[in-house]
Amino acid sequence: MTNHYDIIIIGTGSGGSTMAYKLAPTGKRILILERGGFIPKEKENWDPHEVVTNGRYRPKEDWYDKDDKPFKPFIHYNVGGNSKMYGAALFRFRESDFEEVKHYGGISPQWPLKYDAYENYYEQAEKLYSVHGKRGADPSEPYANAEYPLPPLAYEPLIKDLDGKMKQIGLRPFPLPMGVKLPQDYTATEAPVVLENFDGFPDLTDSKADGQVMCLRPALKNKNVTLMTHAYAERLLTDASGERVSEVLVLINGEKIKFSADIFVVACGAVNSAALFLRSANEMHPAGLANSSDQVGRNLMLHHNGCLVAFTRKKNDCVFQKSLGIADFYHGAGDSEFPLGEIQLMGRNDPDTINWMGETLFPGKSYAELKEMSIDFWLTAEDLPSQNNRVTLRNDGTIKVNYTRTNYTAFLKLKGKLKEIFVKLGELDADYKDVKWGGYDLDVSGMSHQNGTLRFGNDPKTSVLDLNCKTHDLENVYVVDASFFPSCGAFNPALTIAANALRVADHLINEVLKMGSVSKKEVMEVECLCNS
Ligand SMILES: Cc1cc2nc3c(=O)[nH]c(=O)nc-3n(C[C@H](O)[C@H](O)[C@H](O)COP(=O)(O)OP(=O)(O)OC[C@H]3O[C@@H](n4cnc5c(N)ncnc54)[C@H](O)[C@@H]3O)c2cc1C
Repeated sequence: MTNHYDIIIIGTGSGGSTMAYKLAPTGKRILILERGGFIPKEKENWDPHEVVTNGRYRPKEDWYDKDDKPFKPFIHYNVGGNSKMYGAALFRFRESDFEEVKHYGGISPQWPLKYDAYENYYEQAEKLYSVHGKRGADPSEPYANAEYPLPPLAYEPLIKDLDGKMKQIGLRPFPLPMGVKLPQDYTATEAPVVLENFDGFPDLTDSKADGQVMCLRPALKNKNVTLMTHAYAERLLTDASGERVSEVLVLINGEKIKFSADIFVVACGAVNSAALFLRSANEMHPAGLANSSDQVGRNLMLHHNGCLVAFTRKKNDCVFQKSLGIADFYHGAGDSEFPLGEIQLMGRNDPDTINWMGETLFPGKSYAELKEMSIDFWLTAEDLPSQNNRVTLRNDGTIKVNYTRTNYTAFLKLKGKLKEIFVKLGELDADYKDVKWGGYDLDVSGMSHQNGTLRFGNDPKTSVLDLNCKTHDLENVYVVDASFFPSCGAFNPALTIAANALRVADHLINEVLKMGSVSKKEVMEVECLCNS
């Protein structure tokens, strides 16, 4: 009986950790299983060569592409999941992202729930993840019933200059909504934190509002919550009826242990959650659990993500560059009837990457010289769901990702727009003239925005999850990571994952556990603990 819990949550990324935070005050016995360990706080956390080039915190695992060629997925197995390394640009999806939209590559399908159903949960998630921002500045922004919890991060001089000049050429740049909890936001009696290596790096100062710091840490202050690290959920096991999952088989230190629970919440990330359901096939579910629709693993979306680096004559001495966004082309442009996507400044590229770009563009220049010339942008365009973009298991159990790009035209045109912007900036200020461009596009290995493999919907024939993110086929299994997305817009996904986890947690508390009034009070108490 000691291996029995009321609720088992599998995975601790943006989805799993947010769910744990919200359920912790119910007093229910909760077990959280995480295949990774804690990322140690060590000097290498901020060492670009170690983190970026050597992939110190990435798994050594191989996945296989559509041609069965092995690749190393850009993912992280650790407490807090990918949110430990994320850039914490915490955007709401736009109202149009919940509707059917026509793109160059086809149709982005509507969601079964619209923005209205999420507005309040976005507000809660912004508070929970301490988002800094400015309402009304981003032209594509959806309506919101509350201000951002905190004001935007200050622009450094070069960004101020870019912001002013972009406005002069008719754009509406805006401060990125950033999830950070800095001592200087709350008190003058603590030393301020200066952020530098951030997106792609763990944060030694715990200022990044990631799942572990903002959610798991306060959740684990409740005695009813247990976290088990290095605990790999191998299979979900059904009871004799085949309609409920009764146990999870977990691999811990080479030993296989079963844990049972009344409710299971799967949050392993879009690819691994699909893989877990497929691995759990049994006699009653030969094609995998929750897969009567044959949709498990299909509709994988990654976003089209890439970096463009402008090498200009303008001196860039920014320390924390990830601060400004451009969404003027989100719904299209004068010369584009279809949506293009959005552009953000990103953290400064690491020396190895900048030197690699410099080798062909400016042979002989040192890293210090190249750094001073470079301004780094991150571009995202929407990827569309396709039945053929699919996660499956190979015969040896390893993961295969059959993925072909959709809607890439939008991404190429978005790149063109950024280049056009600099031509216009060059007419205002000669330092921005004659830009040389470096950059890279993410390919199938760029799994950081993976989503869509277990989409939610009303029809059990075409979706895996119902509107509460419960599997249509199983009575007690929920999914709260990015896999529920029916389409993915072109904004970063983590705030939407967190908002949805809060929504599903509300359903569990109110409708399944029937403890609405109790939990509300106790959730408040945990919030206080978190902020103390
Ligand atoms: C470098 C980088 C920058 C990013 N920047 C941003 C950004 O600025 N803004 C934004 O919104 N998003 C950003 N993202 C994306 C964001 O981090 C993810 O979308 C989000 O964290 C996904 O949450 P999730 O819950 O779906 O899954 P994950 O974060 O992937 O969490 C899944 C967890 O499950 C665990 N797990 C997997 N399989 C098992 C198993 N079988 N048993 C037990 N545990 C298991 C994993 O170890 C992991 O901890 C970034 C990502 C990266 C990598």
